[in-house]
Amino acid sequence: MTATQFTLIFIAALILSTLTKLWLARRHLTHIAAHRDAVPDAFSAKITLDDHQKAADYTSAKTRFSMWGLLFDAVILLAFTLGGGIQAVATLCDGWFVSPLAQGMAVLVGVLLLNSLLEAPFNWYRTFVIEARYGFNKMTLKLYVLDALKGMLVGAILGLPLLAGVLWLMGRMGEYWWLYVWAVWVGFNLLILFIYPTFIAPMFNKFSPLQDEAMQARINALLQRCGFTSSGLFVMDGSKRSAHGNAYFTGFGKSKRIVFFDTLLERLNISEIEAVLAHELGHFKNRHVLKRIVTTFAMSLGFLWLLAVLMQNDWFYQGLGVSSQSTAVALLLFFMVLPVFSFLLSPVMSAYSRKHEFEADAYASQQTDAQDLVNALVKLYQDNASTLTPDPLYSRFYDSHPPAAVRIAQLQSH
Ligand SMILES: [Zn+2]
Repeated sequence: MTATQFTLIFIAALILSTLTKLWLARRHLTHIAAHRDAVPDAFSAKITLDDHQKAADYTSAKTRFSMWGLLFDAVILLAFTLGGGIQAVATLCDGWFVSPLAQGMAVLVGVLLLNSLLEAPFNWYRTFVIEARYGFNKMTLKLYVLDALKGMLVGAILGLPLLAGVLWLMGRMGEYWWLYVWAVWVGFNLLILFIYPTFIAPMFNKFSPLQDEAMQARINALLQRCGFTSSGLFVMDGSKRSAHGNAYFTGFGKSKRIVFFDTLLERLNISEIEAVLAHELGHFKNRHVLKRIVTTFAMSLGFLWLLAVLMQNDWFYQGLGVSSQSTAVALLLFFMVLPVFSFLLSPVMSAYSRKHEFEADAYASQQTDAQDLVNALVKLYQDNASTLTPDPLYSRFYDSHPPAAVRIAQLQSH
């Protein structure tokens, strides 16, 4: 392959992926607009026309904004690659550092910082304009800035040693460096899973033990019925950032925790909370978390091998607008350009995730009353202003959860 050929393949893939995503978003907008005037029959008893239209408008606003984001991302990617952005940063770092490792780190950090700086206005707009307009944003500017700073600090403490280790292995381990890097990557991810609930999450939120005794008794009975041991039930102050509600599990083995957002506890009654928890337990019982982790690890092994093959060719660098070849540049190019090709995997991953959601729902309806979960879901759809009428193709491509109508029909058939 020549550099020019690879450039053409890259541009073609970028155009194809961007146009596909724009086309899906367009379809989504049209579908939502066409169903804006009436609440779907299955929900007409529970959801008012006002709420339905709020959901339609909120989803449309987010979708329209994401279309600008897609175009912006494409431009940024072109600027960094063919536009010479990465090359400029590499040239700038040239000669400042004695060791190639330090120079590689400088290039990586420089490009990543530049990239997040460019993305910052988009994140700000999403939170303080779109989320705020629909009454979901509870974040102050101070908290927002503090979050960003803390995020950067945690990212630096955990990410910089990882990056340095990866670059070192890539430079030292010869032909099979990708196996070593993969082992480090797996270890790193397991470490994060381990320290997330006890060290990282508490930096951003307050976790307090669930106080409500009646609810504790109900939940403990459910846990016992399902043969589940956990080291505690916690309430998280999610309301300080957003009105959206959720519940999740974190941790491993005996250190497993169940976390409820305070926003969720406020809205659902005790039976509905039990049903939501039973759904989460369904994920655990069916080993979904484990399966997901194994799938991700297998994919990262494949990607690292691919990088090892690609970075041996001059056309890989030159085809993406870079003349100085180094492990750091190869790493950057690969992971910036990868999504342009791997977006084809997204419908497969989404389908896999929706299958898990159905399985977890099935489990919940064995352990609790399926109607409780239906009621909880309707409330959550209403509170989150999620659209009840997504475009079917858009939903197939992106949605990790089945569309509301399909999911509820399935639950009611149990
Ligand atoms: Zn789920």
